[in-house]
Amino acid sequence: VTKQNTHSYTTTCCYCGVGCGIVVNKDKKGNITVEGDKNHPVNRGMLCSKGMNLHYAANDKTDRLLYPQVRFNKNMPLQRVGWDMALERTAAVFKTFINKYGPDSVAFYVSGQCLTEEYYVINKLIKGFIGSNNIDTNSRLCMSSAVVGYKMALGEDSVPVCYDDIELADCFFVTGANPAWCHPILWRRVEAHKAANPNVKIIVADPRKTDTCSIADVHLQINPGTDITLNHAIGRLLIENGDVDFDFIKNHTEGFEQYKQIVFSKTLSEAAKICGISEEDIQLAARHIGNAKGFITMWTMGLNQSAVGVNKNLSLINLNLITGHIGKPGSGPFSLTGQPNAMGGREVGGLANMLPAHRNLANPAHRKEVENFWGGTAIADKPGLTATEMFEALNSGRLKAIWIICTNPLVSMPDVRMVEEGLKKAKFVVVQDASNKPETLKYADVILPAATWTEKEGTMTNSERRISYLNKIVDAPGEALPDAEIICRFAQKMGYHGFDFPDFSAIYDEHARLTAGTNIDITGLNYQIIKEKKTVQWPYPQHETGRGTQRLFTDKIFYTPSRKAILHPVPDEITSEKPDADFPFILTTGRIRDQWHTMSRSGKVNKLKQHIAQAFIEINPEDARRLNIKEDDVVDIRSRRGEVRVKAKLTTGIKKGVVFLPMHWGKILGNDLNRTNNVTSSLVDPLSKEPDFKFCAVHVEKY
Ligand code: SF4
Repeated sequence: VTKQNTHSYTTTCCYCGVGCGIVVNKDKKGNITVEGDKNHPVNRGMLCSKGMNLHYAANDKTDRLLYPQVRFNKNMPLQRVGWDMALERTAAVFKTFINKYGPDSVAFYVSGQCLTEEYYVINKLIKGFIGSNNIDTNSRLCMSSAVVGYKMALGEDSVPVCYDDIELADCFFVTGANPAWCHPILWRRVEAHKAANPNVKIIVADPRKTDTCSIADVHLQINPGTDITLNHAIGRLLIENGDVDFDFIKNHTEGFEQYKQIVFSKTLSEAAKICGISEEDIQLAARHIGNAKGFITMWTMGLNQSAVGVNKNLSLINLNLITGHIGKPGSGPFSLTGQPNAMGGREVGGLANMLPAHRNLANPAHRKEVENFWGGTAIADKPGLTATEMFEALNSGRLKAIWIICTNPLVSMPDVRMVEEGLKKAKFVVVQDASNKPETLKYADVILPAATWTEKEGTMTNSERRISYLNKIVDAPGEALPDAEIICRFAQKMGYHGFDFPDFSAIYDEHARLTAGTNIDITGLNYQIIKEKKTVQWPYPQHETGRGTQRLFTDKIFYTPSRKAILHPVPDEITSEKPDADFPFILTTGRIRDQWHTMSRSGKVNKLKQHIAQAFIEINPEDARRLNIKEDDVVDIRSRRGEVRVKAKLTTGIKKGVVFLPMHWGKILGNDLNRTNNVTSSLVDPLSKEPDFKFCAVHVEKY
């Protein structure tokens, strides 16, 4: 659209998995402003503080990487080179390692911020041509427990619901999530729905009293890690009260008897004691769920980032299954995606244990299918290194080279000092990023400047399977290139065919063809159709002419071999690092409202710093009094792995014995004591390999 002196374009917010539509207005100088897209089905014109200030971050190019740089050995400084030289050097080093140590000596660590096309070509390169499955993403830190939970319960990584179900539900169980801060526009829709329909019930389970609790009918302020015990207790009450759907259980699920046994193995009073809440509150929550005509469970990192993240997911999905609240309007289990394109990355198989279109790496037929389609090398049968394993493998010397794209592991990874040791020991590090801020650059042998939001085109998929197109609106500064183009040029330097795509739409078309006949079939899509329809929801097979598939499992047929959903009787033990006399507090971590992840984009915006400007620790006033800590005192937080030193915020909103640190801050002027992940544990869930960010033992004292 052209107005006087400005051009308007539609695109999608690049921060979180809500996936809000944005109108970008560009003036003659190339500066942009943003507004919410009133015609977008997700946000209907609304934007949260991060989204509405995106143009400040986008217009500010002062922190941008502008040209490729290489150091030819570890003792030399980085020097500016052209793209050909940078990629030829990288290809030469990769070939040397692959020839000498095998394909598993190299790895790509990428991001849920990457566009689907970028994910696709990186995955094709490493799995289909280099011959290793060493690609993982920061989505491993975010959604992988939900992925495994969905697979085990429903047969595939498939979010059954859509945002329009919000206005059709009358009960929400929000657990391990603070959507009021972390998925704000989605939460505005829940708030508006409750305001218009006061009978709508909201149950929140969280050890902290967050902003999300402000409209809760019941806040279950559970002890950290006791989610499964709580979910089982609710399940038991639903069965005892006759508030389950026996017809659905009999015809469409497996495992009810075993489930019943496990939930009846604890009394309500035992469960209440373990969770640290009252029996009455659990009964009230169960009554609200039992009375619901439309019941949505909503969760995110509080369940996923756990040493038992998959079991937590399964115990929650069980509640939707026993009540039959799935596959119908206003009902279903709804994992809220953190990163904007974590789901798109999964669609193309961009994780160490997946293949495109949700194919299974362990399945020889699936490997053959993809191998034949790509026409490269044989796809290795063993899973690649996951996020934390990559940095452990750098430490042990098993992994020689790592290529890090659009993510900042020296702030975001757990036990981050171990990660830093790994990067120090790495033989070769490539950092491909838009920003000159990430601490990883210090360890880079090659730096590749990338284009970012509004500077390249592509697609992303949000939490409700909605695929959106992102426009290229401005030119990237300096010599920065789109990530997909960098990877395709590199693949050609390696001598691989199949990467000479004429444009990004051709990458999308190839990805779409590879989904044919799968449960996420999008063979009816191409750029032109996505742009025409504005956004669509997968699956979108060839005969589709509408806007895709709003909700899954409406026929009550699941993707498991028996076509029934599976109730898993998961144990409720806590396997996290236990507090003891030396480290008596439980640390939990999370986000704040106005910052995004490691702040490389949102940290540039002054307005966003006004909300909370500095790292802090939340502590209960009774604990603080015992330790002689007052508001704003500097406090030392130590674990077996490291320490953090920040100011104290005293609040009754956190349980006694628990402390909270936000995850955003990294090193400031060389000082790393703001960095929460100095102390977190690298323990991971055995199935999803997602780290236990929400539970580790720490010592707290006044500095
Ligand atoms: Fe962007 Fe998420 Fe805010 Fe929407 S809710 S504007 S997608 S950060």
